[in-house]
Amino acid sequence: CGIVGYVGPAAPSQRPLEVIVEGLRRLEYRGYDSAGVAVTTPEGMASAKKAGKLANLLAELERRDLPAGTAAIGHTRWATHGGPTDVNAHPHLAGGGRLALIHNGIIENFAQLKAELGETGVEFLSETDTEVVAHLLARYHDETQNLTEAMRLTVGRLEGAFTLLATHADEPDTVVGARRNSPLVIGLGDGENFLGSDVSAFISSTREAMEMGQDQIVTITADQVRVIDTDGNPVEARRYTVDWDA
Ligand code: GLU
Repeated sequence: CGIVGYVGPAAPSQRPLEVIVEGLRRLEYRGYDSAGVAVTTPEGMASAKKAGKLANLLAELERRDLPAGTAAIGHTRWATHGGPTDVNAHPHLAGGGRLALIHNGIIENFAQLKAELGETGVEFLSETDTEVVAHLLARYHDETQNLTEAMRLTVGRLEGAFTLLATHADEPDTVVGARRNSPLVIGLGDGENFLGSDVSAFISSTREAMEMGQDQIVTITADQVRVIDTDGNPVEARRYTVDWDA
């Protein structure tokens, strides 16, 4: 339902988690039934997710004291496949817990993909359509060792509407996003970059934004934003300044 992603400077800090929590607060107006975050560190993925209000997730974060990181993603969920439980909340992990994925929308062909992955021995923890995408992405990441290319290949297999954000411990300075029939915008910071389901996800940090077109894939690092189409060709994204008075 609500999506936010962040990459900052190479030195791990608490800023990624702070940005994500602030973004999730600002996205609360959309309504949701669960919330979760993942912080990327080279050692692995640290994640927390809870059914119910954001306050439940924040209490869990207090208890757990997640490690500092370089990148992070966060999600508020409006359940479509699987009830509003802790396990069904996003992020969904795959690739031995080194990959985290969040998703808005519905994957129409998730049942076929789930069967295909099941045949290769993948075990699913949740009832969501999203977890299937996490495992598909992990499989393509194993093959390509590149999260952007893995996302491009994954998107080529999906039917339906989606905004996807993923991060991988092997590429802890990167967040990759993709969209089809569901919104995703880029926020440009100074030595940090953002992704959001709408600009309110990052408005307290930057007003400089870029639009993403249909079926495009974006890769952000702290100082770079690259957008490609599903053939892998570079796309020139339109830049604009957010003006709330407009
Ligand atoms: N279909 C996904 C789920 O049920 C995502 C729902 C959403 O857009 O929040 O987990």
